[in-house]
Amino acid sequence: MSKDWNTRTKLVHSGSKRSQWGEVSEAIFLTQGFVYDTAEQAEARFIKAGEDEFIYARYGNPTVAMFEERMAAIEGCEDGFATASGMAAVNGALMSLVSAGDHVVASRALFGSCLYILDDILPRMGVEVTLIDGRDLDAWKSAIRSDTKVVFFETISNPTLEVVDITSVAAMAHAVGAVVVADNVFATPVFSNALAQGVDVVVYSATKHIDGQGRALGGIILGTKEMIRGTIEPYMKHTGGSMSPFTAWIMLKGLETMDLRVRAQAATAAKLAEALNGHPKIARLIYPGHASHPQHALVMAQMGNGGTMLAFDVKGGKEAAFRTLNALKIAIISNNLGDAKTIATPPAATTHQRLPEDQKQMLGISHGLIRLSLGIEDCDDLIADVLQALEQA
Ligand SMILES: *Cc1c(COP(=O)(O)O)cnc(C)c1O
Repeated sequence: MSKDWNTRTKLVHSGSKRSQWGEVSEAIFLTQGFVYDTAEQAEARFIKAGEDEFIYARYGNPTVAMFEERMAAIEGCEDGFATASGMAAVNGALMSLVSAGDHVVASRALFGSCLYILDDILPRMGVEVTLIDGRDLDAWKSAIRSDTKVVFFETISNPTLEVVDITSVAAMAHAVGAVVVADNVFATPVFSNALAQGVDVVVYSATKHIDGQGRALGGIILGTKEMIRGTIEPYMKHTGGSMSPFTAWIMLKGLETMDLRVRAQAATAAKLAEALNGHPKIARLIYPGHASHPQHALVMAQMGNGGTMLAFDVKGGKEAAFRTLNALKIAIISNNLGDAKTIATPPAATTHQRLPEDQKQMLGISHGLIRLSLGIEDCDDLIADVLQALEQA
């Protein structure tokens, strides 16, 4: 497997292994276990499983291994552990790294379930968690202590698209020996340079851009071989959050087209941002790739692109936002993202409904906010759809 390949080539070929039948499309090994030729072989494999030697699908499986290897190749790291969902990946990474009495610092602007782990589960297990404004480097500086074990953030946050300065935060974390774990879903593997910028463990929900076609839940934890096999795997393989071979096959197929999809989605997001800029029905436009975003320079330096997600605040609050959503003819109302279909979400009414009102306000999740995950439909059709819907606001 060539390390010199560019991403588009790796997305199609990296990690592929063919069986004796020479199949073109990656094989799905729907098997929970593996046969040993002899009792001696069984014993030897339990002592140490070699490359391409499997024991049980919760530990590893050939189709899942192909997905892990391909993801590691495109992220530019040594290894990965594929998980049943994005949350299994976030939970697995954090639980593998912390023990009771440890201190964790995390940005407050997080996907709802990530916030639940940090704000509820970890404290219940005796882990002290400090939540801060991830945009504020001074806040990171004062929160990170000599005994901080893990630093966690979403590189671009959901749903208000706040950007964390990865290089600066990683430097502060590493100065005290803390491990940097980043949920990189909104950045996507296509635009990610997270490991080169100092992240130690990168986590993806594969449910989003990696599948990209709304079919399956999945996730992956990426890092050095020592981190993945030494620290992450023991927790994951014994607690049951592994990816199924069928899901791994779906994700392998998704990866083949991911670069094409994500670049088209991001190009549409940039054009839509231009079309919505200064629109009379909108109180606030949020697109990191647009010059109006307060962290525009940072996001362009960090990933060279504004990504596939855009949000805007409709004047007139919830009623106006709902009228806009209900008038959309192409974009569907749902809550996934990174899909081939454009998806519109009212976060305050759905994904962040349970967040107390004061926290919604603190995070900028207003009742007029609409989050758009741009799909791969015709760009002009999509812009026309959003503009006509806004007329109904
Ligand atoms: C969707 C998402 C997750 C969770 O992924 P699932 O596959 O739904 O479990 C975690 N973090 C972010 C930023 C997400 O968007």
